[in-house]
Amino acid sequence: MKDFGREILAWYEIHGRDLPWRKTTDPYKIWLSEIILQQTRIKQGLSYYHNFTEKYPDVSSLARAPEEEVLKCWQGLGYYTRARNLHHTARIIANDQQYTFPDNYKDLLNLKGIGEYTAAAIASIAFDEPRAVVDGNVIRVLSRIFGIKKSFDKPEGKKIFISKANDLISKKEPGKFNQAIMDFGSIYCVPANPDCNHCIFKNDCYAFRNDQVDKLPVRSPKIKIRKRYFHYLVFNWNDPEQKTLLKKRNERDIWMNLYDFPLIETENTMKWKDLITHPEFKKLTKGLIFNLRQSSPLYKHQLTHQQIHARFFMLDITALPNRKNYHKTKKSDISKYPVSRMIEKFLQDYP
Ligand code: SF4
Repeated sequence: MKDFGREILAWYEIHGRDLPWRKTTDPYKIWLSEIILQQTRIKQGLSYYHNFTEKYPDVSSLARAPEEEVLKCWQGLGYYTRARNLHHTARIIANDQQYTFPDNYKDLLNLKGIGEYTAAAIASIAFDEPRAVVDGNVIRVLSRIFGIKKSFDKPEGKKIFISKANDLISKKEPGKFNQAIMDFGSIYCVPANPDCNHCIFKNDCYAFRNDQVDKLPVRSPKIKIRKRYFHYLVFNWNDPEQKTLLKKRNERDIWMNLYDFPLIETENTMKWKDLITHPEFKKLTKGLIFNLRQSSPLYKHQLTHQQIHARFFMLDITALPNRKNYHKTKKSDISKYPVSRMIEKFLQDYP
């Protein structure tokens, strides 16, 4: 193998993507971009990065913001734990570190919400510490070129990948090296049908030479997806003068601290005639008269380990039930609350 570091840096000089967070060594902005880009495509993440840096240009402005406002700014990106941790960590940096970002990998790793990958990205890009980042793109490139057949999900495989990446990293330009290998994986050595015949590594690449491009990297068996069935009660939706009910999701569950409508979750999808006999429905509407106006089609929302099937029942009711954590609000004010992508979709479909 020729000098892998030099090759990949030369490729990056020509083909690397021109992105706003590549033009800064501000650890706060690098951190922000890394968190936004976890589980989000660059195209979608860009506008969020711009909004966030405009609204919260530094860690102190983010730390001072109320959590609800931060969640609202995050709305549509999904995986809200990222936003909550981001905000929480900003407060720790503000309170415990006097607004100063830790300047090395080990100290960064001590912060909640900053894992090995993010700590390596910040340490290498902002502080020139030779710490390799290992994400899905890097795993693909390394496993194919060097013929690594272990799964990253297993401790043994993880160790091998991290150690290989740290052996290869440029000591002079570690940040650039990390960006280069991630870009190469994301633009060139793509999961399906990469253009191996024109690749700079084709003479050395184990997978190409051994016809194993579609077999590497080795993946662990798929995780079982849990199906959940949500039935939302949307009160007085057809009368803009009346209020409806929103509930803050306080449980340790998906969409924590976001708002949605009163919810009945069941093991299977339920029809209206069955739903009204459900104990939770009876408890909620006890002593009240209601009338179903409309029900939505089934909404399907895919999360990493869960699949949500939801239906919205829009009903008139003589009075709104009083419950802890329930907020009576006008339809026109709902846009002030942070909500999940699925609720946002419903609001667009039923304005
Ligand atoms: S030859 Fe193909 S599999 Fe190997 S690094 Fe290049 S693009 Fe990836």
